Amino acid sequence: MIAMDENDISFFKDGLRLDGRRADELRPVKIEVGILARADGSCYIEMGGNKVIAAVYGPREVHPRHLQEVTRAIVRYRYNMASFSVEERKRPGPDRRSYELSKVSREALEPVILTSFFPRSVIDVFVEVLQADAGTRTAGINAAAVALADAGIPMKSMISSCAAGKVGDTIVLDPMKEEDNFGQADLPIAMTPNGDITLMQMDGNLTPDEFGQAVTMAMKGAKDIYELQRRALVAKYSQISTDSAREEVHLCE
Ligand code: ADP
Repeated sequence: MIAMDENDISFFKDGLRLDGRRADELRPVKIEVGILARADGSCYIEMGGNKVIAAVYGPREVHPRHLQEVTRAIVRYRYNMASFSVEERKRPGPDRRSYELSKVSREALEPVILTSFFPRSVIDVFVEVLQADAGTRTAGINAAAVALADAGIPMKSMISSCAAGKVGDTIVLDPMKEEDNFGQADLPIAMTPNGDITLMQMDGNLTPDEFGQAVTMAMKGAKDIYELQRRALVAKYSQISTDSAREEVHLCE
């Protein structure tokens, strides 16, 4: 097999990216709230080729009990990639990458969760990647934040996540797989709607100037995603209140 690097591919054609996007354009995003009957909160998200489900359980009793914290709930986050989510079958089960992603994703969400409301309990977040196309950690965090809200977990704010990257010496928003794998840098962030950053990671190399551009671009992407998360939650809960209002009318008849 011939090893490929960024010099082997042209990332732009007629000023547009391989999938026809402008440099500062997100992939299409679709968010559905409350798709799992047995979870306390859930969300399905598509971000371009990524398809991810998040399920939230709790607050509930901690097992094993020695993990209990007397003053607050603990938050557990399990990121898992299905073996069929990538082109070559992925070996099932946890690995170094999934441990890292679970840790950073939990740390991205924990600062906004009001854990002190639920001492001695646990909030479990499960993220299942069904189809991966780069940016699965950001898609997972976006889905998990919506699922937490759907579960009624008190939060100071929503968390929204997006990456920027560098390909062909250009800073681009929301890199897809080819750009992520063969690009020069990848910088995922997560933040509150006020712009308080709870996750920032970086692969590759950026100059200080490019770093500033990438952070600004990723923050703009996260802000746009926040609006879509908000709309998805409003759509679900306004539908429920319309349905229950209809039921009430029905009962009165
Ligand atoms: P993220 O998905 O958050 O961008 P990475 O940068 O580690 O995380 O991965 C980029 C992409 O590389 C993934 O979204 C996926 O498409 C692909 N990938 C990651 N791990 C594997 C794997 N074990 N086998 C095949 N492809 C993988």
